[in-house]
Amino acid sequence: MITNFTKSIFINGEWRETGSKGTNEIYNPATIERLTEVANGGKVETVEAITSASEAFPDWSERTGRERSRILYKAYQLMMEDADRLGEILTREQGKPLNEAVGEVKGAANFLLWYAEEASRGYGEWIPSSSKEKRLLVIPQAVGVVGAITPWNFPSSMITRKLAPALAAGCTVVLKPAPETPLSAIEIIKIFERAGMPPGVVNLVTGDAEEIGNALLVDKRVRLITFTGSTEVGKYLMRESAANVKKLSLELGGHAPSIVFEDADIDKATTLVLGSKFRNNGQTCICTNRLYVHESIKTSFTNLLKEKALKMKIGYGMENGVELGPLINRAALEKVGSHVEDAILKGSEIICGGKAWNSNLNGHFYEPTILSNVEDDMKVMNEETFGPVIPIQFFTDEAEVLQKANNTDYGLAAYIFTENTNRAIRVSEKLDYGIVGVNDVFPAVPEAPFGGIKQSGIGKEGGHHGMDEFLEKKFISIGMS
Ligand code: ADP
Repeated sequence: MITNFTKSIFINGEWRETGSKGTNEIYNPATIERLTEVANGGKVETVEAITSASEAFPDWSERTGRERSRILYKAYQLMMEDADRLGEILTREQGKPLNEAVGEVKGAANFLLWYAEEASRGYGEWIPSSSKEKRLLVIPQAVGVVGAITPWNFPSSMITRKLAPALAAGCTVVLKPAPETPLSAIEIIKIFERAGMPPGVVNLVTGDAEEIGNALLVDKRVRLITFTGSTEVGKYLMRESAANVKKLSLELGGHAPSIVFEDADIDKATTLVLGSKFRNNGQTCICTNRLYVHESIKTSFTNLLKEKALKMKIGYGMENGVELGPLINRAALEKVGSHVEDAILKGSEIICGGKAWNSNLNGHFYEPTILSNVEDDMKVMNEETFGPVIPIQFFTDEAEVLQKANNTDYGLAAYIFTENTNRAIRVSEKLDYGIVGVNDVFPAVPEAPFGGIKQSGIGKEGGHHGMDEFLEKKFISIGMS
């Protein structure tokens, strides 16, 4: 299944085993075993991939939506049939528990299904003219060649969430996956190949992030960059895109508040908060980062949360029943440790966890951690911890907690727990976030728009909104004689 060298650069329908810069080793983050080596590509391959995507663009974009749909639908079927094997590959390269990995693969396939359906629905507009001598219409047209840069935390679904709408719209793509997790990307490209995607429509370049990124940025043929990753890299891409006025779609960092009101269903809310925080071991941009709990339910809520957190099983994601895998690498473990240390130094108390998990595995594990006595100036309350740490604060007043929740440069996701519908709507309207989950912590679905505001991003992924990102609206003004 995984061999010594894995062909990982795919340009104009052909695979390559090594790149212009050699190969890179890929590790299993739970065991630190070497899985394989993939090609280390750079500028040379990226320029070739852009040329291939550019040459494939006229034919692909001129096909009917139905034709593009058939290939996307076939890819969806192939991915669903292979979900178990793909899930295993994902767990081995990324670390998340197998059931989460298989769930991610199926979720990824569902983006293919949704956009297979949307491919035939790129509607235009007929605008009633204010002059009898004119007819005005707007036609949607594919943007052109797209550069897609994806992260390691969702090695499968972040790819289809970008590629499926781009391809449905008629764009061609150069994909650069995260260096930590290229294997899921390779499998997705193989699926497109088997589904009958014409050569050049989808290209894959693994390797040097900066060099590949730079080649995508400076090339005028790349009309749009779609990126999921850190706010820092997002800002860099935005700055560098200015030179050629490229379109951008950015899904960046977040610092999600979860607010539990006094009328919440405590059993449900504790389970959901843990689901939100510990999914993918806290390594998602929409994970709860700050937990605000109403003072009146302080003890009952905290005790139940702790009880459930302590029952969570840490370990190798391939083992049965494991709910928390490793962090992606040593730097991630160190970051989590430093955030907890900062909180303790500033007076926080550990309710549970608070240290690395010792095991006979070599990977970078951290115990599920809950912190109380948390102050606003602690790192955990301001920076993305990207690990299994829940800082709790208690509040009494709705206006006060809203002010705290909104007091951040991020604006991706926020969650509220309440059984009061009026409050749910009132508070949702006032939260400065692109996504609000009300008694729901899994808002990323193919049919709805996912995306942040403020420094969490630009644009939407998912839903018909997601395809709009890849369509220009051309205005045709017709003078009638
Ligand atoms: P994280 O900290 O979660 O790894 P990054 O923003 O560093 O987030 O990475 C997200 C994606 O962006 C990865 O595919 C990574 O290789 C890529 N990346 C990082 N730096 C650059 C860069 N300078 N240009 C283009 N892509 C980059």
